[in-house]
Amino acid sequence: MMGGHHAATGAAVWLAVTTRFHVDLGAVASGTPWGLPAFDVGWGLLPVSPLGAATGALVTAGAALLPDADHRNATIAHSLPPVSKALCLCMEGLAGGHRHGTHSILGLAAFTVLAWAAGLWQLTLPGLGTVDAGAGLLSILLISFAAKALKLVPDRLKVTPWVVGVLLGGFIAVFAPEEQGWFPQAVFLGVAAHIVGDALTVGGVNPFWPFVVKSPRFFRRLPLLSSVWTRGGYFAVPVLGKAGSIREWLLLVPVSLYTLWALGMTAFQVLARR
Ligand SMILES: [Zn+2]
Repeated sequence: MMGGHHAATGAAVWLAVTTRFHVDLGAVASGTPWGLPAFDVGWGLLPVSPLGAATGALVTAGAALLPDADHRNATIAHSLPPVSKALCLCMEGLAGGHRHGTHSILGLAAFTVLAWAAGLWQLTLPGLGTVDAGAGLLSILLISFAAKALKLVPDRLKVTPWVVGVLLGGFIAVFAPEEQGWFPQAVFLGVAAHIVGDALTVGGVNPFWPFVVKSPRFFRRLPLLSSVWTRGGYFAVPVLGKAGSIREWLLLVPVSLYTLWALGMTAFQVLARR
C-alpha cells in the first residue's frame, strides 16, 4: 500500500473505533414520500472526547506509517531530518530489512509498549495543567510522517516539517484525549492498520517474524492458495493486487470520504460544545 493510503486508513480506523454518529436520513429528507433509514456510523468502542477523536486521528495516521520506517530510502526518512533519517537507519538494522520485523506481531507489540512507556511521561505546567509530554514529543515525529506521506508540506522548505510537527505535537500534548491509554491505543491501531493493509497486497507480510513458517509443498501447487501463503513464509489476501493499484485507489475513495466526514462531525461537536 502507498504511504498516503496507509495514513488515511490509520485515521479512518481510529475514528471508526472511537466515534459513533447517528445518521437519520429520514429527518434530513423529511416531507418526502420515501421512508429513509436511520443508522449508526462507527463502533465507538473506545469513546473519547470530540477533540480527542480529531487529535488521535492525526497521531494514528502517523503511526500507520511507522512500519515503513524500516529502510533508509523510505519516503518518511526525509520527513523530519535528521531525526527521521537516523530512526530509519536504526530500524533497518533492528527489523532485518523491509517488510520484516516492523510488519510482524512482534513489531506491533514493540511499538505499542514503546508508546505505552512514552505515554506515562506527564508534566504539570503552570496555566496548562497536566500535559502529555511523552505522547507530544513522539507525536511530532508521527505527524511529520503523516504530513510527508499526505504531501501537506512542500519538499523545498527544509524547516517547515519541524515547524508543523512542533506546533501540532504541542497542540496534541495539551489537547490530547483525557482517557488513559489513548496514545498506545492510537499507535497499536495505526501499526495494525498498516500491517493489514500490506497483507491485502500481493507482497504480503510475515506476521511470525523472526520465524519463517514455510508453506507445505502441496499447498504451493494449488492455484490461488499459493499466493495466500508463500514459500518464504509470507501471508496475503491479495484482494488489492500490487501496491498502488487501481483497486487500492478505489478502496481509498470511501475510506478518505469517511475520514473527512467523521473529522467534520467531530469539529462540529467541538464547536457546538463552546
Ligand atoms: Zn509496509
